[in-house]
Amino acid sequence: GTVFRAEALGKVYQTGETRVEALRGVDLAIPAGEMIVLLGPSGSGKSTLLNIIGGLDRPSSGRLFYHDTELTALGDRALTRYRRDNVGFVFQFYNLIPSLTAQENVRLVTDIAADPMPPEEALALVGLAERRDHYPAQLSGGEQQRVAVARAIAKRPGVLLCDEPTGALDSITGVRVLEALARAHDELGATVIVITHNVGIAAMARSVIHFRDGAIARLETNDNPVQAQ
Ligand code: ADP
Ligand code: ADP
Repeated sequence: GTVFRAEALGKVYQTGETRVEALRGVDLAIPAGEMIVLLGPSGSGKSTLLNIIGGLDRPSSGRLFYHDTELTALGDRALTRYRRDNVGFVFQFYNLIPSLTAQENVRLVTDIAADPMPPEEALALVGLAERRDHYPAQLSGGEQQRVAVARAIAKRPGVLLCDEPTGALDSITGVRVLEALARAHDELGATVIVITHNVGIAAMARSVIHFRDGAIARLETNDNPVQAQ
């Protein structure tokens, strides 16, 4: 089935006199369980779309559905609940809490999730079982990002959204993060949407959505494609 369907999504940012049209009528259908990559120049609207899909932001116009639920019709509380129950996020900067160990950082999420995996299991999935009692400062950048991936997947989200997850890492370190994401995708059966310039990640995806000036410029698909409408 289709996990996300967008109809004419638009987003306008108005800051004083400055008006930016970040999304200009995006139509999109994303099949459940796929790994999708968003590619495109900086400022083309990728983060804006990802944040709207994740319920962190709202569009200015258009409609967005998660399965049969119209996210754009939900109130703030219901949208927060959607996000908490269904969405895991991984950002470019890991946002770990420095005073907590790897395992404690993951436990922050599992403590409030409905059906979490044990923190140890999430850390094992990203290859960090041995590092669970380390603090962020004792971990490399790549390891910290893998902790962030463990934190994102520990609540078994149906959707995993990643904004430049390897953007702060060198390419070799990035590969380990990439493997962790692929593993999460396989184990969870989650729909994974990744903004990246990393060609390794783009090559792993079934579908690549090319963004330009707030719109989809091109879809590159294999057998189970993302459909433009
Ligand atoms: P990227 O190019 O990696 O997507 P940006 O630097 O464009 O990241 O944006 C990072 C975040 O900063 C965005 O998610 C957005 O919330 C915020 N942001 C970006 N551009 C502006 C802006 N012109 N004014 C205010 N906030 C912005
Ligand atoms: P990308 O992720 O492709 O780099 P973004 O979605 O971050 O693009 O940004 C799209 C456009 O919207 C850019 O022109 C950016 O400056 C602007 N923008 C993003 N977030 C904000 C914000 N919070 N306030 C004002 N402008 C923003």
